[in-house]
Amino acid sequence: MDSNNPSLLQNHVDGRWVTPAAEDSVDVQNPSDGRILARVPLSGAADVDHAVAAARTAFGEWSRTPVAERCSHMRMLAQLMRENFEDLARQITEEMGKSLPDARAEMKRAIENVDVACGMPTLMQGENVTNCAADIDGEVLRLPIGVFGMIAPFNFPAMVPFWFLPYAVASGNTFVLKCSEQVPLTMQAHFRLIERCGFPPGVINLVNGDKIASQALVEHADVDGISFVGSSPVARKIAEACARTGKRCQALGSAKNYLVVMPDAKLDRVVQNMLTSCLGCAGQRCMAASVIACVGDQTYRQVCDQFTAVAKSVNVGNPLDDHFMDDAQAIGPVISDDAKRRIQSLIQVGIEEGATLLLDGRGIQISGCEDGHFIGPTVLADVQPGSTLERTEIFGPVVIILKFDSLDGAITAINQHEYGNGASIYTQNGYWARRFKTETLAGMIGVNVGIPAPVAYLPFGGMRGSIFADIKGQSKEVVRFFTESKIVTERYWPEEDPIPAE
Ligand code: NAD
Repeated sequence: MDSNNPSLLQNHVDGRWVTPAAEDSVDVQNPSDGRILARVPLSGAADVDHAVAAARTAFGEWSRTPVAERCSHMRMLAQLMRENFEDLARQITEEMGKSLPDARAEMKRAIENVDVACGMPTLMQGENVTNCAADIDGEVLRLPIGVFGMIAPFNFPAMVPFWFLPYAVASGNTFVLKCSEQVPLTMQAHFRLIERCGFPPGVINLVNGDKIASQALVEHADVDGISFVGSSPVARKIAEACARTGKRCQALGSAKNYLVVMPDAKLDRVVQNMLTSCLGCAGQRCMAASVIACVGDQTYRQVCDQFTAVAKSVNVGNPLDDHFMDDAQAIGPVISDDAKRRIQSLIQVGIEEGATLLLDGRGIQISGCEDGHFIGPTVLADVQPGSTLERTEIFGPVVIILKFDSLDGAITAINQHEYGNGASIYTQNGYWARRFKTETLAGMIGVNVGIPAPVAYLPFGGMRGSIFADIKGQSKEVVRFFTESKIVTERYWPEEDPIPAE
């Protein structure tokens, strides 16, 4: 790719690569070195309409295709993703900036979702009851609905679309994906595989663009439902628009995940586990912990010292440099210069509000990557519940440490927070762990696990301001989102036995 003359990406609609009608486009940048990788078109309403029309046309026949046959295309996709695993992981790293070990972990998760969706012949089974009244049977059918749209964030260019796409399609719907304009290349690579899997034209479509394309998809009269993942302010708008236009909606939003460290926690193991949770992917995971809540003075002092010491040892650099490639702890850049400036200004606000800076990652220079968007690990202590740093999703390698007198104090702080995506406790005490599991208002709970991101066989999603949905992502649960339950109540009147043929 010539970065002085980057190629313009295309949409994939009705089984073909097409150039969008909209003329605007923006650069796709490698966040490690600022190189321009491509230009991504900003599709407009006409481009979205083209994709939705293709999906609508394909729906009838696809929904009647036997479920096992639909899954056979999915199995081929899983196989191609496995065969191209390393290239896809590198593509994620190149455009998003996460380490290669992180990108590989993301690809494993994406493939796992395709594998699970291949169980659709079982996952979408209905239920029935015989004799729910005299000689009357009741039956619940689960039927595909129509055209679903998905709007994806930048931080998991492969995995997040796959929380939805395989389940929607294997259950007999057709699909229009709007990937993040900041990381569109990963889905370009996936669609080159999708076109080899024999899906009929129009079943899976890709539209590139920004909020204009998202809004066109959400407002489109021929779209039946939207899965959205991104920040909460946008998630709320999407949910409102879906309610207004009568669509199914699941909108997963922002996070501020707490790690609660109890006095009996096994600190020698816990500190390393917290490091991966807080700083992996440069803190740009919705399941990244960004608050460490210590219960008791001694726990607080020990965690401040030990966490800061290990955070200092984390390598920061271009994740595709030879000496970082297999460093599971190394962190790359944040996604953009805008993100870097926003994170740095939040650190400054924290200091002005009285936080103590234990480790300052601002101003880090990476030789050969002067145009990259790097921030080193940053740790702030003496942060108060309710302060800007505690309320705001920072989405960078910035960790705040708070002190509480009791588990109750920590649970109250979590439960008063706007967001409730994930939360973890470190303890050996079953009573504390049980209280945490049952009383904490977060959707994904960890006990001695710093990133309690569930596997694809279980649902994924938060609570309160972290989600605008009744049904969460992935697993058997999401099949309920993509299918309508139709309830049949049935009886037959008695008949004479048929007259035997002469
Ligand atoms: P974002 O909200 O800025 O963008 C997400 C998507 O929405 C993009 O495709 C973007 O083009 C589109 N968009 C942006 N503004 C829009 C608008 N006004 N109307 C319609 N569409 C719009 O999020 P991001 O910066 O790409 O991703 C980071 C955020 O995503 C963080 O808040 C993170 O916590 C969240 N996230 C949440 C989960 C989860 O499971 N809850 C998972 C991953 C990321």
